[in-house]
Amino acid sequence: MSRPMLSTELRAVGATYLTPHMRRITFEGPGLADFVSVAPDQQVKLFFARNGGALAVPAPAADGDVTRWYRDYLAIPESERPWMRSYTVRHHLADRRQIVIDFVLHGAEGDMGPASRWAATARTGDVIWMYGPASSRKQVREQAAWRLFVGDETALPAIGAFLEQLAPGERAFVCAEVSDATEEQRWRSAGDVDVRWVHGGGGPRTNDPALVRAVRATRLPGGEGFAWVAGEASLVRAVRRHLVDECGMDRRAVAFTGYWRRHLSQDDAFTEEDIKDRTDALE
Ligand SMILES: Cc1cc2nc3c(=O)[nH]c(=O)nc-3n(C[C@H](O)[C@H](O)[C@H](O)COP(=O)(O)OP(=O)(O)OC[C@H]3O[C@@H](n4cnc5c(N)ncnc54)[C@H](O)[C@@H]3O)c2cc1C
Repeated sequence: MSRPMLSTELRAVGATYLTPHMRRITFEGPGLADFVSVAPDQQVKLFFARNGGALAVPAPAADGDVTRWYRDYLAIPESERPWMRSYTVRHHLADRRQIVIDFVLHGAEGDMGPASRWAATARTGDVIWMYGPASSRKQVREQAAWRLFVGDETALPAIGAFLEQLAPGERAFVCAEVSDATEEQRWRSAGDVDVRWVHGGGGPRTNDPALVRAVRATRLPGGEGFAWVAGEASLVRAVRRHLVDECGMDRRAVAFTGYWRRHLSQDDAFTEEDIKDRTDALE
């Protein structure tokens, strides 16, 4: 029997701009006393009321069956079903019973998705719902000789959390894509970390994206490393292909997740490519 998920209301108690397009929101909630962190890249599902309607989110199954819970969620009539989006818990402040989430404010006004729109205007006291947390399927190997973290803005919260957990002497390389220098972040780490920023993003994808070129230009040491890749799905695919096909990394040593899809929202059905990614990720 798996651990039941936590399902709780979240109330915004603070908001600040980390960078011009990254808004950090701190939340409190009645259920957060029971929040147990599961991994640096732990994800939660957040729910946003549709058109000012109710935040009706099904209760988690007592036996931890997530599939049944998801079926119950889908059974809510679409006009009332809250929007569901995935986010990373950037910090869990256990002593304060708070969690912190960093939201990328993507898209121009009127063109934002519901999560980005909510985060852009959130004020103290605003309420959403949370279900989770869950860890990614593939955990970063403790014994890896080095770690490589690659991603776009949506991956920065997880990358920051990973770096903060490194022990002195552990080596890590980061290749991160942000729109411009104002979106770069600084992280604290006890590890030995090299960070390479790529500017651009958002534009049309090429066969050889700048992020892949940045990975190619990174001088990875010998020994068995572990790579973690997240961000826009086609970009993640390109980086993964490079690491496995060109660098010869063992595919089991590459954790990858498409965090969002160009021109598709998280309400849209999986494409064939998404399904293949999910199957590959289980290897
Ligand atoms: C496990 C996991 C963890 C994640 N963690 C974070 C996190 O900590 N912080 C974070 O900001 N995001 C994170 N994401 C990504 C986030 O869930 C998506 O960006 C999501 O689509 C945002 O929802 P929305 O309602 O704003 O946009 P949607 O309604 O889903 O999409 C509307 C439109 O916006 C486009 N779009 C969506 N996201 C972006 C983007 N980032 N840049 C440009 N265009 C975009 C879509 O292609 C679509 O055309 C995570 C995703 C996953 C799967």
